[in-house]
Amino acid sequence: MEFDPIASATTPIAANHEPAFVHEADIAEAEAKQAQFTNRHGTKQPNILVVLMDDVGWGDFGCYGGGVAVGAPTPNIDALARRGVQLTSAYSEPSCTPSRATLLTGRLPMRHGLQRPPMYGEPGGLQGEVTLAELLSDAGYITQAVGKWHLGENIESQPQRVGFDDFYGFLSVSDMYTEWRDPYFFPEIVYSKARTDWVENQPFNKSFVHATRDGDLEPVEEVTIPVLSELDQKWCAYSEKFLHRMAGEDRPWFLYHNTRGAHFDNYPHESYLGVSPAKHPYKDTIVELDDIVGRLVDVLTETGQLEDTIIVISSDNGPEEETWPDAAYTPFRCAKGSTWEGGVRVPMVVAWPGMIDPGRVTDGLFDFNDVLPTLMSLAERTDLIPSDRFIDGVDQSSFLLASNGLSNRKYHYYWLGQAFSGLRCGEYKLVLNAISDDPISQADTQGGGGFSGAFQKFPYGKLFNLYLDPKETHSYLVRKLAYQDALVGQVARHRATFAPPYEPKRVVGLNV
Ligand code: CA
Repeated sequence: MEFDPIASATTPIAANHEPAFVHEADIAEAEAKQAQFTNRHGTKQPNILVVLMDDVGWGDFGCYGGGVAVGAPTPNIDALARRGVQLTSAYSEPSCTPSRATLLTGRLPMRHGLQRPPMYGEPGGLQGEVTLAELLSDAGYITQAVGKWHLGENIESQPQRVGFDDFYGFLSVSDMYTEWRDPYFFPEIVYSKARTDWVENQPFNKSFVHATRDGDLEPVEEVTIPVLSELDQKWCAYSEKFLHRMAGEDRPWFLYHNTRGAHFDNYPHESYLGVSPAKHPYKDTIVELDDIVGRLVDVLTETGQLEDTIIVISSDNGPEEETWPDAAYTPFRCAKGSTWEGGVRVPMVVAWPGMIDPGRVTDGLFDFNDVLPTLMSLAERTDLIPSDRFIDGVDQSSFLLASNGLSNRKYHYYWLGQAFSGLRCGEYKLVLNAISDDPISQADTQGGGGFSGAFQKFPYGKLFNLYLDPKETHSYLVRKLAYQDALVGQVARHRATFAPPYEPKRVVGLNV
């Protein structure tokens, strides 16, 4: 039967795994390419570079229709997309921490428990989870994390305690280091000694730090506003040094490079002020981030490692609109914090010259939780993936490597904190619960955004065709009841995966 993302059936993997499409022809092609790679390079395991940007929108890069059209050219990322595959339906979670934890654990936020970001030293993080860095370490990789972490400041959640050999970056999120130092946003703190002392005495880390495996954090420098403006340059230089050092290594490596930008508030490095046609801090930051991607790819090229390395460029969630105009661009509905497409559909470019065909653009579903099983499959060590917990990610290696590879994922599940929000299958999206982005519920905010709206329940659900209606404005559930079992029925089947022994976990949750 001809494959169809709605009509075709998935194959069960195990009781604790999301079922997947198994495309035999794609798998054969992918395996042949992996065998060629082993012959060419004398190793089975590729190096892995993940560049994760912060709050950059689906539409910001030129290859996604942004770039020069929205006042911030991205020639390096566009060039990388032309050398690899560009995913148009890659999904993060609605905000930073849930997305990052999902990427590193292969699990939905309802399983790893980080359903919203912990802020200002709030307790909680990755405890009890097994990370991609730990698995790759066990598979023989050298593991390096650089830049933003935001997966918990507590000792057991720090990067050097969850599988990274070395960490150079900050533990939390950009605005927490600087918002209370900026007289434009916080005059009532900046001009009050009492309040400044009060913030400074709160138990959150105010410096960017360095640490090595199992060691303690060493503060590098307190993150004032001038220091913050230099972080992306300092972090890029650190990663460049790492890549140079790795050129002489026999072992494969995993570099998890997390940029500071373009999370609000953006204070671009002084050499980037006004360089974008838009001349706004957010847009200057996008130009800076694009340059950083170019620099990292250049080092891989100069050191002869490019063809040994799979590169993934993405963003951890959609645009933050409550801080407009310090905000990203998405053509979709709503923004960060929501499960409308604008909140969770993110750019993702994957390149591996010689292994991934150049110039592919595909709308196949890809979830952040697919990163772990896919990379473990490419490292040929899926045997290391833990069997004592539910894994939501599916192995997408044949999707990426085969010339016309099809996604191995049938459903994307949208969760809003601990509330099930909806699911997508093929071009259809069913929505049961969502943040309201209507003007009445957001009349008290500057610019509607995903964090500001009321929590809405749709008792019968709303159904959108994302091909005809990418902005989710025309629900026509009652005209499409033939999809009842494929969509509404799947909600019940998905919820049943949280039955014992795979009960939901809550470390930090939402008020829903
Ligand atoms: Ca983010």
